[in-house]
Parts: sequence; structure tokens; C-alpha cells
Amino acid sequence: MNTCLFCSIVAGEIPADIVRRTDRSVAFRDVHPQAPVHVLVVPVVHHPDAASMAGDPEALGLLMADAVAVAKEQGLAPDGESRGYRLVLNTGAGAGQSVFHTHVHVLGGRGFTWPPG
Ligand code: AMP
Repeated sequence: MNTCLFCSIVAGEIPADIVRRTDRSVAFRDVHPQAPVHVLVVPVVHHPDAASMAGDPEALGLLMADAVAVAKEQGLAPDGESRGYRLVLNTGAGAGQSVFHTHVHVLGGRGFTWPPG
């Protein structure tokens, strides 16, 4: 059993509502959704946070590309009815990160304000 929660989900040791899986990332619905669409996209390879991936910009870029693909598959788009979506990478406890395996929050299906709280 992995000690990292999201590594356990990637390995299938803990159930999750998986919406997309490739050889490099897994996307699953957040258990405490903050929007009608709230999906987490995580790399298969463990990295604690986005900062730790700075030395591998290709992996970080591909993770963001996978998040955009998930948004599209979930019916979200920058234009059209949904009027956009939000991609969030909380990085560090002070920024709200609670699971230390890099993940992109894909949030959509409602309006958002800026700046966030
Ligand atoms: P963060 O606070 O940015 O680290 O985001 C972690 C997210 O993981 C939170 O939005 C939690 O609701 C979500 N979460 C925690 N445990 C699970 C789980 N077992 N399955 C799906 N989402 C989870």
C-alpha cells in the first residue's frame, strides 16, 4: 500500500471516480466538489508539488495539457455556455495544498470571481 493518497488512487488501491486515465496521468472527481465539475488531474509519477516539477518542464506542461483535455471532455470551454473554467495548482500548505502529490484542480460549470478568497 502506498503512503501517498493519490499514488494509492493511481495504483487502484483506493477507489476513485476516474474520468480519464493515460500512461502519464489519472483524472478523478474530487470527493468534496467546489463546482459542478471538479476533477483532479495527477501525474502517475509521484511529485510532491508543482515546484518540485520545475526541473521537468515537459512533465509539468503535459500535466497542464491533460487538464485542458479533461476540461474539454467534461464539456467545458473558454467560450460557449460554460464561459470558461479554472485550473488550480495549490502549491504549499499556506496556499491550501493538503495532498502532497501534484494535482491540477479542473473547476467549471459555474461562474468564478477574481481574486479568489
Ligand atoms: P489540495 O487542497 O489542493 O491539496 O486538494 C486536495 C483535494 O483532494 C481536495 O479538494 C480534496 O477534497 C481532494 N480529495 C481528498 N481525498 C480524496 C479522495 N480520496 N478522492 C478524491 N478527492 C480527494
